[in-house]
Amino acid sequence: MTLTHAYAAQSATTPLAPFTFERRTPTARDVAIDILYCGVCHSDLHTAKSEWGPSAYPCVPGHEIVGRVSAVGAEVSKFKVGDFVGVGCMVDSCQHCQPCADGLEQYCDNGMTGTYNSEEQVSRANTLGGYSDHIVVFEKFVLKISHDEKALAAVAPLLCAGITLYSPLRQWQAGPGKKVGIVGLGGLGHMGVKIAAAMGAHVVLCTTSPGKSEDAKRLGAKEVVVSKNADEMARHLASFDLIVNTVAVAHDLDPFIQLLKLDGTLVLVGAPGTPHPSPGVFGLITKRRRIAGSMIGGIPETQEMLDFCAKHGIVSDIESIRMAQINTAYERMLKSDVKYRFVIDMATVEEPVAA
Ligand code: NAP
Ligand code: ZN
Repeated sequence: MTLTHAYAAQSATTPLAPFTFERRTPTARDVAIDILYCGVCHSDLHTAKSEWGPSAYPCVPGHEIVGRVSAVGAEVSKFKVGDFVGVGCMVDSCQHCQPCADGLEQYCDNGMTGTYNSEEQVSRANTLGGYSDHIVVFEKFVLKISHDEKALAAVAPLLCAGITLYSPLRQWQAGPGKKVGIVGLGGLGHMGVKIAAAMGAHVVLCTTSPGKSEDAKRLGAKEVVVSKNADEMARHLASFDLIVNTVAVAHDLDPFIQLLKLDGTLVLVGAPGTPHPSPGVFGLITKRRRIAGSMIGGIPETQEMLDFCAKHGIVSDIESIRMAQINTAYERMLKSDVKYRFVIDMATVEEPVAA
């Protein structure tokens, strides 16, 4: 067992605060990791506040983990002590259903084991995530990182935000000749702009924040549409092959459906705690448009995404924070005031909390 320093929410209405617990002793198949950095995903906030239904408390969020291997079990062959590695949104799955066999562990028929607020496969203990200085993970769910060591903090958000956009962009074949919309320039959205641009697509950002326009172009968008401006939206009617919507609150989807061309697809990855208003049927049937959903990506595709990003020099644009700043970071995330991902420097986890 390893004493682990962390930050936890003790209820849906209390701020995150220091918390210590013991990580399990690594089994033969486990990798023990000293966590260096952890990104702050909007899903962490949804879960800490029980916005997706009741969470288990204490709740230690965090599923954009980068660290250094501190020990490996006897059967571990892919990693050695000292390697830099990543852990994303999953730490296990049943390993015997068809999706698991196909490397689509996120769609495990028996339910994947999330990195936090989930049940471990054997012990059924509640999983505790990456807002902590140590974690023990089944080797299969540990990712290799080939980015330069200096970029490690900015690599952390690839483990959730990066793969959540990479997977639908690959599935719906973003690339040269395709017009791809990204809705929302937050943690997920800014990775979508970068990755879709690197895939060769014509990228258009749809945003509620006119002030993010210059950034979007710097990140790779060819055009920016302020979605609250009907005239700007009208200029893009029926022209998109694919739109990936990352918005974290319920909103009217119809204006985005109207932007799709014949057979175009709107993929929802944003996961608000309350449903979107039901879209109008006519917007869909008149151009055989589709609405789809997508959840993170499987382990093989996550490794593919990390290697793609290393090859293309893609990392996240981050603001580094100390662990004690996490509650302020949540408040700022709710105001869309993040450029474009907070990443916790885990060396600060034991710092005293300011009065
Ligand atoms: P985020 O950093 O807070 O970004 C969300 C963006 O949505 C904001 O930056 C903002 O962009 C836009 N937005 C915010 N409020 C809005 C409003 N009232 N109306 C319209 N747009 C608004 O969040 P994130 O970490 O990227 O996560 C986004 C969502 O994806 C969350 O619900 C999260 O739980 C979910 N998620 C899903 C998966 C999956 O596997 N499907 C994985 C990870 C996260 P603009 O300022 O540009 O409008
Ligand atoms: Zn996430």
